[in-house]
Amino acid sequence: MESLYTFVIFIILTGVFAVPYWIRVVRHRQVAEEKLSKSIQAGILTPVTLHPHIDLQECIGCASCVKVCPESVLGIVNGRAAVVSGLKCVGHSLCADVCPVGAITMGFGTPKQGQEIPWYDDNYQTNIPGLYIVGELGGIGLIKNAVTQATKAVHHIVGKKDLDKKFNYDVIIVGAGPAGLTAALASKEHGLRYIVLEQGSIGGTIYHYPRQKLVLTAPVELPLYGKLKVSEITKEELLKMWMNVIESQKIHIQINTKVDGITKNQEGFQVSYGNSYCTTKNVVLALGRRGSPRKLDVPGEDIPKVAYQLIEAEMYNQKNILIVGGGDSAVEAAIALARQKENIITLSYRRSEFVRLKEKNEKNINNLIQTKKIRVIFNSQLLEIRRDTVVLKEEAKQLQTISNDFIFIFAGGEMPVELLKRAGVRLRTEEIDH
Ligand SMILES: Cc1cc2nc3c(=O)[nH]c(=O)nc-3n(C[C@H](O)[C@H](O)[C@H](O)COP(=O)(O)OP(=O)(O)OC[C@H]3O[C@@H](n4cnc5c(N)ncnc54)[C@H](O)[C@@H]3O)c2cc1C
Repeated sequence: MESLYTFVIFIILTGVFAVPYWIRVVRHRQVAEEKLSKSIQAGILTPVTLHPHIDLQECIGCASCVKVCPESVLGIVNGRAAVVSGLKCVGHSLCADVCPVGAITMGFGTPKQGQEIPWYDDNYQTNIPGLYIVGELGGIGLIKNAVTQATKAVHHIVGKKDLDKKFNYDVIIVGAGPAGLTAALASKEHGLRYIVLEQGSIGGTIYHYPRQKLVLTAPVELPLYGKLKVSEITKEELLKMWMNVIESQKIHIQINTKVDGITKNQEGFQVSYGNSYCTTKNVVLALGRRGSPRKLDVPGEDIPKVAYQLIEAEMYNQKNILIVGGGDSAVEAAIALARQKENIITLSYRRSEFVRLKEKNEKNINNLIQTKKIRVIFNSQLLEIRRDTVVLKEEAKQLQTISNDFIFIFAGGEMPVELLKRAGVRLRTEEIDH
């Protein structure tokens, strides 16, 4: 009788706790598989920055890494951890820290396709004396690393004591993201003659974050500001903080200035942008890794709703979205966004048809056009971006104004590594062997 009683209790407890638990586990695994297949379909699997490489021989599928990742980059697929939403990874490394069997290492590229990372020493100086690389361009993401590296590089410049007034500046800083801004603050703190050249607007990658909350994994010490201790901060708060310190310290930043060449002779560097240049003995490159997207130069392009890369498609639901471009990147973004909830997607392309699309993309976009999930306007041009609308010109038709919440422009561009190669910076290819 007693054993029957125990058996019944066992069955009830199993029903109450184990069954819902297993339903949750199975559901999580389905979601992970769906995310992985969406990323594969969209061709956006490999993060551009430091990210986890999982040794499948070692992984025990315990999901500790999945639980700890604030960006939901990882999932369990076929009983093992997998990178399922690669582009969301920002390199926190929390997954590698919690893995109980050491199956996760942080690296760049993929086992098959490496990524070129610049070589630099402990002071972030490259093989070219006087040329420094700080922040995400060096391959390590996160705001705290950008701040620490930029501060150290400037301290090294100050320590060399070889400044020379015949140059326009003691240091030229390229890029006004967290790394470049920190380098500027540190330069000001040490009385260096400096300038910051920025191709877009102040703030760097943060400015175009599609999401609100940022995680600061450790307190950071900002020159001329002090300790920034918060562990979570919104994008607006962080930008406001940067702008306050820039204004109060009168930090000189030349925006809309894309650096396209850095040459060194015996004397020093010549940093060129368009038809102008300036000279210096030290250059701090804080370009990030997202490159220099080609801009359309239309009014309103500086409104923060404009982006040149789609990072998290699932952040966009019930929105009016314009995609500009007709290559694979534009079409993949349109497909990914059309698969979210109730978005109204318009794709504007200057040609009369798509050319040289990947077969899979061509098939998918044609299906979505037929089912009216995407509207494509060929032979069209974006003329103006306003806060809630955009103005398009379609060949031989009147201007049309359409409602708009977000714009993604895919008009080509240049990756930062090209500028580094032209400058003669030594690169290494980072690969992981499995
Ligand atoms: C979606 C997302 C979420 C993230 N979340 C977090 C988070 O929660 N916490 C965290 O710590 N980190 C996070 N990160 C990472 C963090 O944003 C980056 O590590 C950080 O911005 C790197 O700073 P940076 O100054 O090196 O580069 P960037 O911020 O990329 O700035 C580089 C600047 O250089 C400019 N530039 C590039 N080329 C040129 C040129 N030729 N001439 C002139 N200017 C040029 C660019 O326009 C840009 O303004 C996130 C990243 C993304 C994409």
